[in-house]
Amino acid sequence: MSRIRLIDWLSGKRSWPYYRQYVESQWYDRERLDGFRVTKLRALLTHCERYVPFYRDMMRQAGMRADDVRGLDALRHLPVTDKAIIKRHYEQFASEPAPGIGAIHYSQTGGTTGEPLRVPKDVAMRSSAQAAMFRFHDWMGVRPGDAVLILWGRPIVRPTRMKRLRVRVLGAITNSTQIDSFGLNPVRVADLAEQFRRLRPALLHGYAQSVYELARWFADSGDRFRLRAVSTTVEPLFAEYRPLLRDVFGCEAFDQYGCGEVEAIAMECDRHEGLHVIEERAVVELDAEQNVVVTDLDNLAFPFIRYRNGDRAAPADHPCSCGRQHQLLSRILGRIGDVIVGPSGNRVHPEFFTHLLNETGISDRARVRKYQVVQEAPRRLLWKLAADPLMERDREWLVGEVRRYLGEVEVQVEMVEDIPVGRSGKFQYVVAHP
Ligand SMILES: [Zn+2]
Repeated sequence: MSRIRLIDWLSGKRSWPYYRQYVESQWYDRERLDGFRVTKLRALLTHCERYVPFYRDMMRQAGMRADDVRGLDALRHLPVTDKAIIKRHYEQFASEPAPGIGAIHYSQTGGTTGEPLRVPKDVAMRSSAQAAMFRFHDWMGVRPGDAVLILWGRPIVRPTRMKRLRVRVLGAITNSTQIDSFGLNPVRVADLAEQFRRLRPALLHGYAQSVYELARWFADSGDRFRLRAVSTTVEPLFAEYRPLLRDVFGCEAFDQYGCGEVEAIAMECDRHEGLHVIEERAVVELDAEQNVVVTDLDNLAFPFIRYRNGDRAAPADHPCSCGRQHQLLSRILGRIGDVIVGPSGNRVHPEFFTHLLNETGISDRARVRKYQVVQEAPRRLLWKLAADPLMERDREWLVGEVRRYLGEVEVQVEMVEDIPVGRSGKFQYVVAHP
């Protein structure tokens, strides 16, 4: 598929060989799949014992040698980590310079947990994650080059000209068009319907809440479309969303799960009986409280091994009828944030606030540990930040951008030591006024 190679070339990835592999390995039996993963785990741990101080120490303490690893249960000798631990020992988790890692990109993650983390990602990791997405497209019946509409947060801070150009070219090659989920407003529903009619997308992809909201407006305005698939991510795709999506978009919806640190982790096949873990790239353990503990088998630049990412998931109680042996999750619990409706009528997806902190560089500058946005009244937002004191111009920047998107709201930025988890036991990073 030359188009995938072209996308690779433009995006500096090499997902093509991974994609070829994953197309084949989706039908591996249990034994072969495990063999494949153990080989990858051994390579990861070999790298760790040479180049990653935290794991070098841990493996030494456990009397463990990568060469001796014969099964995935070797992971049990290593500790479970989480964001707090990694932030505390950040330098220890990063790989020392090593041959073969290739170009490293840095991404800021952690919106949904309210705790930003800067994650180095090597080319293998980015390629593998992208390949998993291409395979997911196969599952949805979407071919490379089919028109795709993406309902996603556009950059808030204007990117450089070079970056804008690259995004435009990639958009043209992938035949994808973006609708800004930070600027959704029911008054635009006729425009949006027109865009759907003009572009005739095969696939609509976006934040579950935004896709659902859009479907509700189309349902009210009587607009109906015929897509091949809808895919949603960031929040769970609730069962009650599905009938409406089916009605408005004339197709099935596919849930996809990942996290910023590891990217694609699990996705639905066309049987819709649960989400298949992409076992070729991720080991998912569920602890007694059903916390997701994930190991990324690809990223040597910054290994996430037995990483509790803050989400919870339930295992499926039966295998998928499609015949794939990949571990099946019945649902993902977690990721709580509300859409905020501003006085302007604009509806801002909760990821907006993460993007804003990251794009302005304030996450880094003020070393943001955690944050929470609470809409206390329709025109009043309280933004709690556990961080170093903000520079005055950064504070003004945050407030100004929030008002630009939401309209005339009063924004109070409050510096706090910590933000405790609510009584529900689940941290909600963006809370809308009821
Ligand atoms: Zn299946």
